[in-house]
Amino acid sequence: MPFKEELPNYVVINDPFCENRDVLRKPAEEVTFPLDGATLKIARHLESKFDQEENCAGLAAPQIGYSKRMIILEVIDDEDIKKFRIDLTDTLPKSIWVNPTWTALTDEKTSDWEACFSVGEVAGSIPRFTEISYEAWTLTGEKIEGRAKGFLARLIQHETDHINGKLFIDHIPEEKWVPRGELRQKGER
Ligand SMILES: [Zn+2]
Repeated sequence: MPFKEELPNYVVINDPFCENRDVLRKPAEEVTFPLDGATLKIARHLESKFDQEENCAGLAAPQIGYSKRMIILEVIDDEDIKKFRIDLTDTLPKSIWVNPTWTALTDEKTSDWEACFSVGEVAGSIPRFTEISYEAWTLTGEKIEGRAKGFLARLIQHETDHINGKLFIDHIPEEKWVPRGELRQKGER
């Protein structure tokens, strides 16, 4: 049986008892290749934490306390999710991206509901670019590039924000924040 590592807790910006909250507000460190043992451990923690969640589409290293430019993403073709994510067209198998960046391919933005493990009990309808191109690297240093539309584009923008010290709530005024419970009633997961 593999040795089970203890996983870090989520860093939550609006939890006053969370001591390392500033990790969410500073640009994360660039990852250099080849990855050292400590950075590979962060990748392992990111994936294990992601795997623990049901219906988790993405997570970024600062959310579990590591100031490193690493995110994990997965978008599956799921009929239940597509009921409320009507722009879920592009899918992505579970992937860890290192040093990701993106560029908008259009001026067009659409708003849709977002919530986040790092912002307790708040949700909001957040405008994001509808189509982007992206660039990132795998853990072994191979370059990844592509284009993304709709929900996948939204997810990449949300997760990349995390490694730039930004949160989804920064995109809308506070009076537009809504309690997450209200969103669940609307069928959001
Ligand atoms: Zn988030």
